[in-house]
Amino acid sequence: MAKLAIIAHGGAGADPQKKSNIEDAIQKGSSLLESGLSAVDAAVDVCVILENDPIFNAGTGSVTRLDGSVLVDASIHVSDGRLGFVTSMPETPNPIKVAQTLLDEEINGLGGIGAREWADQRGIPRSAVIPRTTGETASGDTVGVIAMDSEGVMATATSTGGCSDRPAGRIGDVPLPGCGFWVESGVAVAATGIGEAITREILSHRVHGWIYRDGMPMVHAFEKVIETRFDESTDIGLIGMSSDGSCVARANTNMPWASWNSDGIRG
Ligand code: ASP
Repeated sequence: MAKLAIIAHGGAGADPQKKSNIEDAIQKGSSLLESGLSAVDAAVDVCVILENDPIFNAGTGSVTRLDGSVLVDASIHVSDGRLGFVTSMPETPNPIKVAQTLLDEEINGLGGIGAREWADQRGIPRSAVIPRTTGETASGDTVGVIAMDSEGVMATATSTGGCSDRPAGRIGDVPLPGCGFWVESGVAVAATGIGEAITREILSHRVHGWIYRDGMPMVHAFEKVIETRFDESTDIGLIGMSSDGSCVARANTNMPWASWNSDGIRG
């Protein structure tokens, strides 16, 4: 039986006070895994908790685009190779649930109105997404989760309203495989920060290769990729998990995160 493990972040550049909300979500996620929930379901459920929390830029509380619209992105990737992602979805407070419906489909990804119609056909609630009201407009506060269940299956779930001050059709790293997330061969990675910079680096897949292919310890790989591939002024953060249940998080700015595994190790 594999160790149970879960880690989540609340975005690169986010207020440190948001850590307690991440800790509460991880507490819930650890209970879900202990009750036998799969990594996919636990990652999605924790992501939904964070999407529903208005202090995060994901689902409710997302930033607005330049035209005032609220359009959301989300993705899920499973260590067995299944993949689902949605981008620029209107009227969808929980885009991670739509991404999850794609896991067993022939297609991997959907965008915009087509994604919304797909969700309507599957009974996923359509309602206006309430944007953030705090006056905070920074791009941070996106959410990401990685979970591993007793079968050793790992899943990443990421969700965002995108970076602020971007056009309505902008696509960031969260819905792009290899950019905002990657899980394969016992190594799972999820990224946060400025999506354009993450995408140009194919960040999650790049750092995954350093760890899995080159044998670099995850913590060194995260530190090296952040130091060598990004300008200090570009907010970047990473969370990761290995198949032994160990969890790592690194960022060049504040990034609230928390983790738990069934050895009792908390981060
Ligand atoms: N990476 C997200 C995006 O660019 C934002 C974030 O992680 O804060 O859409």
